[in-house]
Amino acid sequence: MAIDLTLEPELVELRDRTAEFVRAAVLLAEAEMLSGAGTPDDSLRRRLQQAARDAGVFAPTVAKELGGLGLDMRALSVILEQAGYSLLGPLALHCAAPDEGNMLLLERVADPGQRDRFLKPLAAGDVRSCFAMTEPAPGADSDPSQLATTARRATGGWVLQGRKWFITGADGAAFAIVMTRTGTDAEPAATMFLVPTDTPGFRLVRHIPSLDQGLTGGHCEIELDGCEVGDDAVLGEAGKGFAYAQVRLAPARLTHCMRWLGLARRAQDLALGYAAERTAFGSRLGELGMVQQQLADNEIDLAASRALVREAAWVLDQGSSGKHESSVAKTFTTEAVGRIVDRAVQVCGALGISADLPLSAYLREVRPFRIYDGPSETHRWSIARRALRAVATKESNR
Ligand SMILES: Cc1cc2nc3c(=O)[nH]c(=O)nc-3n(C[C@H](O)[C@H](O)[C@H](O)COP(=O)(O)OP(=O)(O)OC[C@H]3O[C@@H](n4cnc5c(N)ncnc54)[C@H](O)[C@@H]3O)c2cc1C
Repeated sequence: MAIDLTLEPELVELRDRTAEFVRAAVLLAEAEMLSGAGTPDDSLRRRLQQAARDAGVFAPTVAKELGGLGLDMRALSVILEQAGYSLLGPLALHCAAPDEGNMLLLERVADPGQRDRFLKPLAAGDVRSCFAMTEPAPGADSDPSQLATTARRATGGWVLQGRKWFITGADGAAFAIVMTRTGTDAEPAATMFLVPTDTPGFRLVRHIPSLDQGLTGGHCEIELDGCEVGDDAVLGEAGKGFAYAQVRLAPARLTHCMRWLGLARRAQDLALGYAAERTAFGSRLGELGMVQQQLADNEIDLAASRALVREAAWVLDQGSSGKHESSVAKTFTTEAVGRIVDRAVQVCGALGISADLPLSAYLREVRPFRIYDGPSETHRWSIARRALRAVATKESNR
């Protein structure tokens, strides 16, 4: 089937309305945030989300019956790019990580009771959540099969034991989706649990100071020490944790690309504005060849990233896992977005480095994207192995 990238009139209208909302209501809040603490607090989140509800752009990833816009991945690639035009846009539209990926996972896997208790308040923006997979050494890192946090059967439920870190949004989250080891060494398996953060034995150890600061609730270290939960805390079925992680990961890494692409577009717009105004050596900066080259390379990186993201989104909409396409799009876009923001800083000179423009904050915020949702190296590793397997299969079929 050929990829159809035509945007229907309703999607164009929603795109333009989202763009208008972000420019009118969110960019100002971003400037205020960056001149203050640099991290959005919960009152700012609630205020922006109410404004998004009023503008009819709230929760684009969430199903209509839960109060969202119920868009498919292809439409999301258009809308989330607009949301990402400001660091606060995804938060305002309620499509920021980690809640966005968690809502998708819960929509696909949670049972009716879990939908009522966890998904509904999350989808409504009444609470926040976090996703707890990564662990300090020797636990789960780029290699999730090293999962060390255990869930042991006990009367009427389970006891969780272990430590997690770099858990985004954990401070202030109402609940965590916790990935645990439940299989044996011979037959490793994983199980996900829905754990309210006020459960005895669930402890927020610390905020981990980090380069990026743009997400509510920080990146935290968490301890699970004899944390007892009932059978109803098992998300989906016990033993299927690795399969559920895949349900979340491919779409979540793509939605990250969509949002960061919007921020890269904004960086390029700032660079274009500066190059069109500022003069040096008797001409506008934008008339100098080497400045033009940077602006052109940014346009090329934007267009190439968008094409890869839209293709991967379309593949997911066709019901495929999109593992390969999302890996390709993620690797290219993370690196392209970094290049675009870096070139924008260069074009804007000293002003680019200053806090008078948001570019230095963008530089900080986009860098970690080459590490989370799989470092570039692990994606390249899988892309290469898949390509080599395809050659081997062709040869053995000859
Ligand atoms: C900003 C941010 C937010 C995060 N939020 C969350 C969260 O909410 N929940 C959560 O569970 N985790 C979260 N993480 C953790 C994230 O998932 C991990 O950082 C990621 O899986 C990589 O694991 P690691 O950092 O332990 O790197 P390691 O596994 O220690 O790898 C270190 C480096 O080794 C190289 N490397 C690894 N594997 C290979 C390979 N196969 N081939 C070649 N080189 C390789 C890469 O360069 C990699 O960067 C977050 C991380 C960041 C930076």
